[in-house]
Amino acid sequence: MAQTRDRFALIENLSSIGGEPSRDLRETLDLIVATVAAGLETEVCSLYLFDPKRERLVLRATVGLEGDSVGKVSMRVDEGLVGMVIETGEPQAVEDAISHPRYKYFPETGEERYHTFLGVPVQNGRERPIGVLVVQTRRRRKFTAGEIRLLKAAANQVAQVLSHYRLRETLATKEKERDEYRRRMIEATRQLKDYEKVGGKTRVAAPVRMRRPRLVGLPASPGFAHGVAHVVGTFLSTIDRTRRARDPKSELKRFDEALARSLAELAALKARMAPLMPEDDLRIFDGHRLILADEEFIGRVRQQIEQGYAAESALFRVIDELSASMLNVADAYLRERANDFRDVGHRVLRHLRQEGGKALSRRTILVADELTLSQLTLVSHENMVGIALQSGGVTSHAAILARAFEIPTVVGVEHLMESVSEGDDLVLDGNSGVLYINPSVEVEREYDSLHRRYETFKRELMAAHGESTSTRDGYPVQILANVALLADLNLALRYGAEGVGLLRSEFSFLTYEDFPDEDQQLKLYSQMLSAAGGRPVTIRTLDIGADKYPPYLRVPREENPFLGWRSIRISLEMSGLFKVQLRAILRAAAHHHVKILFPMISSLEELRRARELLGEAQSELYKEGLEHNPQVEVGIMVEVPSAVWLAPRLAREVDFFSIGTNDLIQYLLAADRNNPKVAHLYESLHPAVLSAIADVINVGRAAGKEVCLCGEMASDPLCTLLLVGMGLTQLSLSPLFIPVVRKLVRDSDYQTARLIAHDTLEMASSQEIKGYLIERYRDLGLIQMVEMYR
Ligand code: PEP
Ligand code: MG
Repeated sequence: MAQTRDRFALIENLSSIGGEPSRDLRETLDLIVATVAAGLETEVCSLYLFDPKRERLVLRATVGLEGDSVGKVSMRVDEGLVGMVIETGEPQAVEDAISHPRYKYFPETGEERYHTFLGVPVQNGRERPIGVLVVQTRRRRKFTAGEIRLLKAAANQVAQVLSHYRLRETLATKEKERDEYRRRMIEATRQLKDYEKVGGKTRVAAPVRMRRPRLVGLPASPGFAHGVAHVVGTFLSTIDRTRRARDPKSELKRFDEALARSLAELAALKARMAPLMPEDDLRIFDGHRLILADEEFIGRVRQQIEQGYAAESALFRVIDELSASMLNVADAYLRERANDFRDVGHRVLRHLRQEGGKALSRRTILVADELTLSQLTLVSHENMVGIALQSGGVTSHAAILARAFEIPTVVGVEHLMESVSEGDDLVLDGNSGVLYINPSVEVEREYDSLHRRYETFKRELMAAHGESTSTRDGYPVQILANVALLADLNLALRYGAEGVGLLRSEFSFLTYEDFPDEDQQLKLYSQMLSAAGGRPVTIRTLDIGADKYPPYLRVPREENPFLGWRSIRISLEMSGLFKVQLRAILRAAAHHHVKILFPMISSLEELRRARELLGEAQSELYKEGLEHNPQVEVGIMVEVPSAVWLAPRLAREVDFFSIGTNDLIQYLLAADRNNPKVAHLYESLHPAVLSAIADVINVGRAAGKEVCLCGEMASDPLCTLLLVGMGLTQLSLSPLFIPVVRKLVRDSDYQTARLIAHDTLEMASSQEIKGYLIERYRDLGLIQMVEMYR
């Protein structure tokens, strides 16, 4: 960074810039930013000036950001880190700008490469700021006080240069124009003053400071929540096991009452969960009820109470003893039951302490390592506004349930349990997976306003429900849902899905203790199909392996699991098990509209072998006289690059294609979909990806075969117009994104979408494509729908 002697050089250089009469404003500003960047040795220097007519801060000059964005990128004073500089009137230094709540992303600037941000107001003396001077660096770093002072000095110089320039311009204009100009400047200053006043008082500049940590996890259910922390799951171990009570009789009475309340709660919980879970999963409630009625368990606790222990201590001693003896055995089933015992213990303990209602008297965010069954009661409580879990992934049971109840949720939050205490003030962002602990007033205010905007927006979207979807000029697009469990399906229907485009059958398999047999699977699929109420359902056969292994499938560790033994490869090798699944699907399809989808097909041989096994399953059922559907349509996921090139040949042997962009992108671009280190290379808008998608759609259309797209790209509102314009007539997406995608389709024209697709397919880089799409959405007045979900 610049030394003191450079400071004078920088200031001197800046003041000499203003003295050159032949230079126009644009050139002058360009020179200023180049001089500041060179003087401060930063990769980026940009100047934003307040445009009073538009009431926005506009990027007027830059080095480091994309030159094309000058004059185009703008923001309100209450937006972005740049706006924050004007709002506070103070320098803002942010080490990791991208993850700051006020960060506003403008893809057309290419600024995602830069991490550290320092912005200072551009102002003449104590006058109101007229702009912001920003420097950014690629490397995360801290700016010293000296460096901040230097940028401030540079900004003062910039203000002087600007006012000289303006003065020169003003002198050159006629008297009348000068008066008008002055009037506008006065108006601009007045507006700036208004921005700085809150409730009649001048606002005291208060830079945003995180007083406590900000934790990052995975966004598992969208939305924003602000509430107090209720930490659960750890308190059993905090009980004093030696506490004694004076009156065993009243302790026994307390224990009996807590038992009765626990039993009633379990029965109510089971009834509430019944429509959301497969019947087999509900058995766990009965298991817990049996523990609560178990004579040995109750007898032991009573005995401890009679020996003088307080009810809580007695309960803890017995639970601890029983679960410890179970944990010591080799049998996995018994070890699992030990957890059930502890879970039951927590429930009774909560009632002993009469904590059921107290914890949720205010808006509450549930904080836990993982969500156990006993905590599900809390999930459906109206004051439960958010969930943060230390373990678990986005596709975990807990995450799926949270989505079913539409509770903003972040999972996989490292260090959560050690960082949050009961009663802490929390702000949870389920859209980007961030949790703030005891945040500053500014962060709270920002999130409260985001939350309000998001909720209003959602309500408006839901108001536009309806059965079918087409563009304004009548091009129909079927909006289907991706679902894993019954809970997802119910949510999808609530959001208006026209059917299920992808039923990921493997998720239900993960909840069993062994491969479910044909009858179990038949029951499972029939339940799902009945819930779909006659709408079409595409059932994908098992897609296990890679990152999804049922606990009972022993698979040796592989070097490259995504390129290894997964998906259809496992099914074709374990053909007995595969046929059981095919038979169950065919039988469930007897009275429903079902399609079968084979995942990860990479060759014609694989498709033919899978169809052969399907044929065998059909003839077996026929011979056995079991009712089934012999006419089920068969399709394949196009998610391996070889299938893109083979598409014309594959099309002859299937009824439909479903493009799985999640895998297709990782295989085409050689970028692991789960590896954060290469996340920047995993680009859905990469020209190669778009061209592969377009090819598959064209092949399908030419062959008269349906083409659906079911990867996460279908849930990205920024891609909707492009995908429709490419000719897709079916999109299958996460239920929560159905309303926004449906509205986008309804608010656009197919002809416009076609032009967008045409232009996009000519472009050479993801960056260019992203910038172009944002610009087009802005022109079409659709950009807000994108911004709400990004
Ligand atoms: C895909 O790969 O795009 C897809 C939908 O399948 P999954 O995400 O289950 O691999
Ligand atoms: Mg896939």
